[in-house]
Amino acid sequence: MKHPDKVTLGFFPTPLTKLENLSKKLGYQLFIKRDDLTGLAFGGNKTRKLEYLIADALYKHSKAVVTIGAAQSNHARQTAAAAKKYGLDVHLLLFKPEPEQYDGNLLIDMFLGAKVHWIDRNKLYEQQLRVLGALKDCYGQNPYFIPMGGSNEIGIWGYIDAIDEIKTQIELLGIDIDYIVFASSSGGTQTGMIIGKKLFDLKAQLIGIEIDKNMYPDKSLEQHILNTAKYAIDEFELPITVTSDDINIIKDYDSAGYGIVTDLEKNAIYTMAENEGILLDPVYTGRAFGGMLDMLEKGYFPKGSSILFWHTGGQPGLFAYKDDLFEKTEIGKDNLHILND
Ligand SMILES: *Cc1c(COP(=O)(O)O)cnc(C)c1O
Repeated sequence: MKHPDKVTLGFFPTPLTKLENLSKKLGYQLFIKRDDLTGLAFGGNKTRKLEYLIADALYKHSKAVVTIGAAQSNHARQTAAAAKKYGLDVHLLLFKPEPEQYDGNLLIDMFLGAKVHWIDRNKLYEQQLRVLGALKDCYGQNPYFIPMGGSNEIGIWGYIDAIDEIKTQIELLGIDIDYIVFASSSGGTQTGMIIGKKLFDLKAQLIGIEIDKNMYPDKSLEQHILNTAKYAIDEFELPITVTSDDINIIKDYDSAGYGIVTDLEKNAIYTMAENEGILLDPVYTGRAFGGMLDMLEKGYFPKGSSILFWHTGGQPGLFAYKDDLFEKTEIGKDNLHILND
């Protein structure tokens, strides 16, 4: 078995704690893994992947990194921070329309000195090639290209490691975890976890909540996970197999479309914040935890189960989506106005 190199970008292990109040309220043993606290420019799950991807970029002597995403991409933000830490230029191909206000993740991209190229998602491949061609002329060599979400055979190593990390934590804390629930979008997190579960013999069942039903125009999320896993198994001579039986994706919560905030996400954000003082994000963890709350209510998990929600970050999105999440009038009437008369 081979293992790629990595650089240091985050602070690990990230905390694993019990959700005490929600456990009492909902009647299950609930835990949370805090990958929102990886520490790289507001953190998130891409930090783990980027430790491997940036190492590969440096090994290939690249001078610049290029990646793709939505205007509010958490992946783009963490890629920009990671690249800068290692002295690389960063170019972000973000999907049009360009917003009027630069807020949330996009604002942070600006602080990090990222160069943004607005592209048409429907002509993604063609526009990507054009920008990459122009950058090759500019740098005299190919820039290092990171696919959406960093979800390739290199990036997934971050979550292979993460399973090793959590298995040790579970043993040290003397707890049992029956299920691990998380947001799954470009699939790299889930692919790494599936491989890690096999390599490190983790007992917990993995449940990905699909976030974007149109993530890959030409294939399903399962297909992407399967392809990436097969590729990694060959490339790194991993002593395991991965089949479609290993992939559990819940698709019940993505119908509103990517980045559309509904009552599901809103309720999840307020529930987690009001009970535990922990912030979720509107696009990924709000949707995934909203799905988990709904599954708990519908009896998906046997009584007495121990369930861990893997927080994958994304909180800068709270600011960019503030108009969808909060109306001043909603809380005004219950609040004290002692000094207002
Ligand atoms: C990217 C992202 C995910 C999804 O991870 P994938 O590896 O793309 O499936 C989940 N949560 C947040 C906050 C993200 O930014």
